Amino acid sequence: MWRALRGLRGRGRRWQHRAAIEVTNEPILEFKPGSPERAAVQKALADLKGKTEAIPCVIGGEEVWTPTVRYQLSPFNHAHKVAKYCYADKELINKAINAALAARKEWDLKPVQDRAQIFLKAADMLSGPRRAEVLAKTMVGQGKTVIQAEIDAAVELIDFFRFNAKYALELENDQPISVDVSTNSMVYRGLEGFVAAVSPFNFTAIGGNLAGAPALMGNVVLWKPSDTAVLSNYAIYKVLLEAGLPPNVVQFVPADGPVFGDTVTSSEHFCGLNFTGSVPTFKRLWKQVSKNLDRYRNFPRLAGECGGKNFHLVHSSADVSSVVNGTLRSAFEYGGQKCSACSRLYAPDSLWPQIKEKLLEEHGKIKVGDPAQDFGTFFSAVIDDKSFARIKRWLEHAKKSPNLTILAGGGCDDSVGYFVDPCIVESKDPQDPIMKEEIFGPILTVYVYPEKRYKEVLDLIDTTSPYGLTGAIFAQDKTIIAQARSRLRNAAGNFYINDKSTGAVVAQQPFGGSRVSGTNDKPGGPHYILRWTSPQAVKETHVPLTDWRYAYMQ
Ligand code: NAD
Repeated sequence: MWRALRGLRGRGRRWQHRAAIEVTNEPILEFKPGSPERAAVQKALADLKGKTEAIPCVIGGEEVWTPTVRYQLSPFNHAHKVAKYCYADKELINKAINAALAARKEWDLKPVQDRAQIFLKAADMLSGPRRAEVLAKTMVGQGKTVIQAEIDAAVELIDFFRFNAKYALELENDQPISVDVSTNSMVYRGLEGFVAAVSPFNFTAIGGNLAGAPALMGNVVLWKPSDTAVLSNYAIYKVLLEAGLPPNVVQFVPADGPVFGDTVTSSEHFCGLNFTGSVPTFKRLWKQVSKNLDRYRNFPRLAGECGGKNFHLVHSSADVSSVVNGTLRSAFEYGGQKCSACSRLYAPDSLWPQIKEKLLEEHGKIKVGDPAQDFGTFFSAVIDDKSFARIKRWLEHAKKSPNLTILAGGGCDDSVGYFVDPCIVESKDPQDPIMKEEIFGPILTVYVYPEKRYKEVLDLIDTTSPYGLTGAIFAQDKTIIAQARSRLRNAAGNFYINDKSTGAVVAQQPFGGSRVSGTNDKPGGPHYILRWTSPQAVKETHVPLTDWRYAYMQ
């Protein structure tokens, strides 16, 4: 998949190209009946059946067990405890900080080629021998179907590791101009201190990338996985260690969120936060950083990718089939638990009857169930009891509010797993809270607008929610597309034309949004790694200085 071009080092005055690699996106496997990949994942699922994996904190290269035991439950069968893990307390988190700091200098001085090699090897392991394991752990632990696990835990993470390695090597070639009398160079150092990587439940790949990208760039990292993704995240951590990551570079620190946040942001050595999760958590962490600013030896880098209230805007010239199929996938895949999931659909009254008919017809075919038992499942249970309760409140709101009509779905049942039916709601009020707030569940709300008021809908979409993550326009008319691109320029960090709002691919659509959706650092793109380096410019002069006076002084 990748080819290292080495041996290009040179000692010339002009900077020589040192190394480069060519990488391509990892192909997505299909898991058709009878395929070897399907057999492999089914075997891995069978191996996990009824099992509870014991997962330690890994601090200073050692497995540490604490008395604060927690369990990760399978979302679609909460009687199954998939992992037993323990929380690091404040003292242990401080120990992890010290262990990481002790490893920092040596790791930072390691040539980037050597660091990149580890991540390339990890990618190859995930692509080959460890693929089925991480897929099965993501399916059982986070409730993903096989294809959702594949595009996340295998493909996206492999792409993150390979493309970040490529970008890091290419960055070495990004050097300042040298002149006859002096050679200039840029040294891409890691940050001085430690980086805290705090990851969400919904993408295994994000956990690997939040910890992995800073480590690749020469940083030491404390990785706090989400309580509901410990099983898959630990599998990724072990792959990194087996690929050659020195033990102290990344500390694996499951912990209570606030205890972890309070402890890391209190350290004078805290120099970066690589966060993905909800807006309230990111705001809390940012405020703590501000409060502690006088303590720090550096101004910490804060990267946070947060939520969204993503839209599909349909114009009367749109292709109905693309609208219906794209919206069903975007709104309901992984139970709407993608930050990019479509949760508000704006349809013109002229096209709505056609869209509605097809949407409801297809909705009836969606199977919600156990993705490990039945590969015909389109999506499974939502992640946990808290999520279930929150989504249930939205369903109750939809049932009670006079502005809202439930067109399909509306049921939920947590007796075996946290199951919520795919729900389609129509809202008469475009400002109802259901059109504004992130739900993070399988609820799609439609607002039908009068076709002749299309332009006002652009303003409506732009101003309804505080988020700015993803959005899509469905239209055949080129003028309409151009107009939407311009008017919705700040409404989405990832904008789609005649395509659904989810499914960003590393290196093809680097991902992230602004407004309250985050700092938009675009993981999956070439600029992301720049957040995790503190460059040093070095000038070396070749001619002696023979006089302190300037020529004009003669
Ligand atoms: P969350 O904010 O509940 O948790 C994220 C992480 O923060 C977890 O590891 C959690 O334990 C930790 N945490 C909680 N409180 C903390 C504190 N005070 N200090 C430190 N850490 C703390 O989010 P979640 O439910 O895991 O993930 C869902 C959210 O993530 C949604 O809002 C979704 O849109 C967003 N998300 C965004 C992107 C993106 O790229 N923009 C990608 C995935 C998920």
